[in-house]
Amino acid sequence: MRITNKILHALTVFCLLISFLGCSTSEEFSGYSYDPEGVTETSDKETNPQYTRIIGVDDGNIWVSNDFSGARMSDFYQVNDSLYRVTIKPERNEINNSPWYAFQIWSTRPDTIDLQLTYEHGEHRYLPKLSKNGNDWQPIDSTSFSTDSANGTATLTLNLKEEPLWVSAQELFTWNKYKSWLDSLSQQSFITPDTVGFSHKKRPIMKLTISEAEPHKSLGVMIITGRLHPPEVTGALGTEAFINELSSDTDLARDFRKNFEIWAYPFANPDGVQQGHWRYNARGVDLNRDWENFNQPETRAIRDDLLPLKDDSLRQIYYGIDFHSTDENIFYPINREVETFPDNFTYQWIDSLKQEFPDYPIEVEPFPPNSPITKNWIYHTFGADAVTYEISDNAPRDSMRTVTRKSARIIMQQLLNEEKKQ
Ligand SMILES: [Zn+2]
Repeated sequence: MRITNKILHALTVFCLLISFLGCSTSEEFSGYSYDPEGVTETSDKETNPQYTRIIGVDDGNIWVSNDFSGARMSDFYQVNDSLYRVTIKPERNEINNSPWYAFQIWSTRPDTIDLQLTYEHGEHRYLPKLSKNGNDWQPIDSTSFSTDSANGTATLTLNLKEEPLWVSAQELFTWNKYKSWLDSLSQQSFITPDTVGFSHKKRPIMKLTISEAEPHKSLGVMIITGRLHPPEVTGALGTEAFINELSSDTDLARDFRKNFEIWAYPFANPDGVQQGHWRYNARGVDLNRDWENFNQPETRAIRDDLLPLKDDSLRQIYYGIDFHSTDENIFYPINREVETFPDNFTYQWIDSLKQEFPDYPIEVEPFPPNSPITKNWIYHTFGADAVTYEISDNAPRDSMRTVTRKSARIIMQQLLNEEKKQ
């Protein structure tokens, strides 16, 4: 009897402990440390307009323009004989520090100037990239660039000519580039392009379905989302490399496509990208905080396209990947204690990736699935494991592509192994 009481007591303590832990992890989420206050309130917001302008100073000798897709430049001044200043304002004052900029600058006669970048509601973050044609980019030479961390500004030394020089926070990866990439992929018989909805500004939310499965075969599904945050270009380059590998003409990729379907939404925030936003969509909302309330058309379009998979007797969701960028290569998996299907898949995938590239910096930071972000919605809706895949802003582009393509090959192999266990 006493033993039974002891067991009962132990059980009671255990249950209390579990419910306490349960409470602590289901505490209402109000934003990550780097988010502005109120980020999970995702109804439409007022945004600051960006006026399209071509501005000339110094008696019409030096010019700047923001008249292109993805541009962000708010104003332009001459400070003295050789110093000029561009000011950059965000789409909303309450915003994460991801100050995107992109503009063209030129001179009526060859000239070398210092150009200061100053930001409202943010501090300098992205190393400038330069281009003569808007397609081929080089990071600025370190000898022509300095930052002032006390003031959050940066100064570039630029050699100007009559032909416009493009200056941008990262390579421009906007609508036209997505369109030509997706169009060329869709030439392949096993890739089906689709539009699943429209943004506030009526831009399509594009989808690719990649599959070579026989009809009526039961299948695994991998979900891919990308570019919820406009400045996250390395995430976009990673998405491109990853999907290209899944679509490639290798035995592994063909085998994968016979057993798995890929549902990919690589360009989830077209308005934000086209408008040169720092973070939000056209109504000033962080789309990666809207996966509980679904107040925005972009998140609703993707959700509504995916929801029928819940009742699809032939298709089982195995995994979700949401591509982003930050200041390091880091994976945010769901923490190990949470049971997912396949359980802790992210950890085995990343362990294999780290073994392949022991010298490549890869961090892992697990989180409880309590925030209204894409991967958590995938877990809560389908029970599937999912990850936020963050690629460093400063990742060397070639090695980043090599690692990302390898990560796609590992995931294909490991998902095929998981499927054989079923
Ligand atoms: Zn992001």
